[in-house]
Amino acid sequence: MSLAERYEIVRRSIAAACARVDRDPGAVRLVAVTKYAPIDAVRELVDLGHRDLGESRPQQLIERAKLFESRELSWHLIGTLQRNKARKVLPVTTTIHSADDLRLLQTLERLADELRLRPQVLIEVNVAGEAAKQGFSPDVLYSVWPRILELRNLDLRGLMTMAPYSDDPETARPVFRSLRILRDELSQRGSLTLAELSMGMSGDYEVAIEEGATIVRLGSSLFGE
Ligand SMILES: *Cc1c(COP(=O)(O)O)cnc(C)c1O
Repeated sequence: MSLAERYEIVRRSIAAACARVDRDPGAVRLVAVTKYAPIDAVRELVDLGHRDLGESRPQQLIERAKLFESRELSWHLIGTLQRNKARKVLPVTTTIHSADDLRLLQTLERLADELRLRPQVLIEVNVAGEAAKQGFSPDVLYSVWPRILELRNLDLRGLMTMAPYSDDPETARPVFRSLRILRDELSQRGSLTLAELSMGMSGDYEVAIEEGATIVRLGSSLFGE
């Protein structure tokens, strides 16, 4: 199957998932995760008109953003960001999905001020409490929330999570639902709106959309395994 065909299938599945729960398909953004995709495939997708691309490694994001400089794309950083990489990646990144601790957020705050930027940032939450996963536990996030509300230079837009790996997408549903509830509760505690829920990958994005995802991050369903 060609990339164009897979892209079409994915877009139809997104629309179908939205229809099942009465949501506007325009309210779900598809971030094409290009971390394993060869550059020619990325170019093909961009030529099909796609604009939102996600990389998990800052260095690869920086290199690829430069290659496509003239194309007005949105680059999403979805993988771990070390504080010492933040200065370089910030100017070329539209949205950081992986703000996973307070010190990183404070570093981003300082850099945003210095570089006169207002980056879009999502807070990564380890909903299922998996030892191997990055992200705030919900308890820690509640406890540092007042500190996060002090960050004035970041455009904090919502939450991100990864569900535990499983062959059955239904096992991810309670994780996605918990992230939505957490978002609703945090939105009551202060002035942040937290409109975005970045959740859902190739194996579970339809369930994520049914549970309120506003951004899905898809790699293998677009580019192949
Ligand atoms: C790799 C990755 C994805 C995409 O995974 P697929 O299963 O290939 O769709 C999404 N989110 C994050 C954080 C990733 O690292």
